[in-house]
Amino acid sequence: MNTTHTQVDTVILGGGLAGLTLALQLKKRIPDIDILVLERRTLPLPEAAHKVGESSVEIGAHYFDKVLGLGDHLKNQQLRKFGFRFFFSEGRRDIDQVTEIGASRHLSVPSYQIDRGIFENFLAAEAQRRGIRFLDTAVVRRVDLHDEDGAPDRRHGVAYEHEGTTHEVSARWVVDACGRAGLIKRKLELAETNEHGAHAVWFRIKDRIAIDEWSDNPAWQERCNPQARWLSTNHLVGKGYWVWLIPLASGSHSVGIVADPRIHPLETMDTFDKAMHWFQTYQPRLFDDLDGKRDKLQDFAFFKRFSYGCKQVFSANRWALTGEAGLFLDPFYSPGSDFIAIGNTYITELVDMDRRGERLGARAQIYDQLYHSFYDSTLALYTDQYPLFGDPEVLPVKVIWDYAYYWGVLAQFFFQQRLTDLTAMATLRDELAHCQQLNKAVQQFLRAWSEHSHRRNAPVMIDHAGLPWFAELNKSLNDTLDDAAFAARIRHSCGQLQALAQELLEQATQDHPALDGSALQALLASPMGRRVSATPQGGEPMLERLRAAEAALT
Ligand SMILES: Cc1cc2nc3c(=O)[nH]c(=O)nc-3n(C[C@H](O)[C@H](O)[C@H](O)COP(=O)(O)OP(=O)(O)OC[C@H]3O[C@@H](n4cnc5c(N)ncnc54)[C@H](O)[C@@H]3O)c2cc1C
Repeated sequence: MNTTHTQVDTVILGGGLAGLTLALQLKKRIPDIDILVLERRTLPLPEAAHKVGESSVEIGAHYFDKVLGLGDHLKNQQLRKFGFRFFFSEGRRDIDQVTEIGASRHLSVPSYQIDRGIFENFLAAEAQRRGIRFLDTAVVRRVDLHDEDGAPDRRHGVAYEHEGTTHEVSARWVVDACGRAGLIKRKLELAETNEHGAHAVWFRIKDRIAIDEWSDNPAWQERCNPQARWLSTNHLVGKGYWVWLIPLASGSHSVGIVADPRIHPLETMDTFDKAMHWFQTYQPRLFDDLDGKRDKLQDFAFFKRFSYGCKQVFSANRWALTGEAGLFLDPFYSPGSDFIAIGNTYITELVDMDRRGERLGARAQIYDQLYHSFYDSTLALYTDQYPLFGDPEVLPVKVIWDYAYYWGVLAQFFFQQRLTDLTAMATLRDELAHCQQLNKAVQQFLRAWSEHSHRRNAPVMIDHAGLPWFAELNKSLNDTLDDAAFAARIRHSCGQLQALAQELLEQATQDHPALDGSALQALLASPMGRRVSATPQGGEPMLERLRAAEAALT
């Protein structure tokens, strides 16, 4: 059969979450752009047992809803998430007698549990409805990238197979969104390992895991309004691992174990039977729930070492990588969709600049550096931190810190549309660098703290909705800020993080005098530390409320 040749403005390799959302974002920004998305699989995709990446957090949810305009689908076809929730339930059946971290009511900014099969079927249809060419059963076989040098208008070439025929397409932009297949990454040898060696196993059960029924204690049930903990991304945590429970709109429940292999080797959980045996020991209440549902198993899969980096994701030579075709961190706080949102936003800006005839060189490089700096900061939340996941004394503080950093800095940049604003980045460079250093020092300190911790597992709820500053920080994402107010917001967040770090340092060293906090103390007392502290804070100590909330419920 003859090979066909076509030309488009942008070809996207892979029509999964990253590729389809990028296509929608590009089309929204540049209505006359001609985009072709090539997807290997054949649609419709199965519901429930499709892919992992089902829990969204604030940036990803805001991206789908407000940036892409998919709010109706999220509200009507997916599930509104009841935040994240953690139970220190290792070896326990009495869920009402262990420490719970979570919110007793919905916080202001919504997020969703996403059935990926339903979502990707919808995204593909929506893309076509908005004038994007989407081709399924189309397998990309070859990518030819052309260097800019001496040929600024050369087009890239892509060969793909569709229904037994080879087709060639030339495009000004090529974006690799083919996930772990990493076509461009392999071709240009961009793969990079990182130090985070965790693994994951997961499966879907065609039934609900009704965690709200795990205890009939009315006081425990009434702690939450709505009494719908099952809608949260529930984490059952223990030393070296966490288990996820994510409900899906199709009626199934997604279950996964993510673990540090130095504590829980993959070989102990890499089949459904082994995972069940593992639950019997480590999370027996979940085992009880699943034991009667074994015949409802829909799939089972695992990744040995799921986290990896990538040397470069954006190029002035008009290629880019998005989603897992680039890099991936860790699912603990569900940042996968966030990084898709951030990466796609940079790519959209570069494509639009190119359309306007602007030079991309320095801009592509800076965006690449920024994206990698978000990756580095976020990776610090996970690397070597799994041992403390079972610590009811330290993990609650870590979760507050991690979320204060996320909502206070990265999410502010995204919600306030300042990711591509290099003036704001430059103005706030010192504060951002300080926050990044502070985060690394705090993560190190939390690790050391956990080695001294008494790991008291009190039957209390650490209620995030009961921490006014924390709930307010979440709500503040919805504000509309001008440049000056935005800079003030980031400076305020830095001051808040500085105060929080000071408090957690004092709390921990008071409880454990042998604990060495000198490195963190030095950073807090550095000239930059003192400068960000000068930002007026107001209000009561941040963790004191948390302790009071704990005490009130004990
Ligand atoms: C264990 C685990 C848990 C996770 N949990 C979460 C979570 O709770 N929340 C979250 O936000 N993220 C989570 N993630 C991350 C999330 O899974 C990813 O961010 C997301 O799925 C990546 O989407 P993608 O489009 O890059 O890749 P994919 O969804 O894999 O899409 C890539 C597409 O490319 C296609 N393709 C591949 N090769 C070719 C080819 N040669 N030709 C044509 N098409 C091709 C594939 O068929 C596929 O559809 C998790 C990740 C892991 C590993």
